[in-house]
Amino acid sequence: MDGLERLADDICSAATAVAFTGAGISAPSGVPTFRGDDGVWDKFDEGQFTYGRFRSDPEGFWEDRVDLQREMFDEAYEPNAAHEALAAMGRGGDLEAILTQNTDGLHGDALESVLAGSATEETNEPTILELHGTSRRVRCTDCGKRTAADPIFERAADGERPPTCDCGGVYKPDVVLFGEQLPEAVVQRARSLARESDVFLAIGSSLVVEPAASLPRLAASSGSTVGIVNLESTPVDSDADVVLREDVTEVLPRIRDLVET
Ligand SMILES: [Zn+2]
Repeated sequence: MDGLERLADDICSAATAVAFTGAGISAPSGVPTFRGDDGVWDKFDEGQFTYGRFRSDPEGFWEDRVDLQREMFDEAYEPNAAHEALAAMGRGGDLEAILTQNTDGLHGDALESVLAGSATEETNEPTILELHGTSRRVRCTDCGKRTAADPIFERAADGERPPTCDCGGVYKPDVVLFGEQLPEAVVQRARSLARESDVFLAIGSSLVVEPAASLPRLAASSGSTVGIVNLESTPVDSDADVVLREDVTEVLPRIRDLVET
């Protein structure tokens, strides 16, 4: 049995299988990556997008953020075969949760389309946990109201900087900025899922920053089968049971096909 077959086999017999994803799953959809050659931080100074700057200079922060959003989301991205495979395994009840570092919303889009395509069957809905928030929304820093990002970014582009809520509070992109804590409840949930998991798949993440680095280790130390699918090596490879250094859009549909047969 090769590594891929072993993962598929363990997913079939698992009570709880969990997937964790990073930028590498969205790169095949064309979503720009932040780091590396031609990454977003080659064109923008990441020091201008900190939580500290948002607090001290919301006007300048929003001015730069409008440019960043334009660069990142200048087209409508579509989920790829890897997002779709995870969504299909979630719908089929083989995947309990999808934890992601990404803020692009593509896991939600993929799930929506597989659920829409399966109206007659019995379906499951996996948990999607966006650890770093979502670029699709903004949140009022006073009353906490969340609303769609696009119209607020348009207002900011038209000169309302910073854009404000009806209550007068300043809107903040609903993503975790540099220097800002990840929401504690979300991190705790991710840690419990990693601990409870029988299979933990880490996909398209370099597993360097927290909590990405510790979640697969937590799963491994709780007895989970840990699989890593990533083009480059990661610091967690030696703790993993299976390492597949292959294209996520090739590997995940093959795992799904094995799981579904
Ligand atoms: Zn408000």
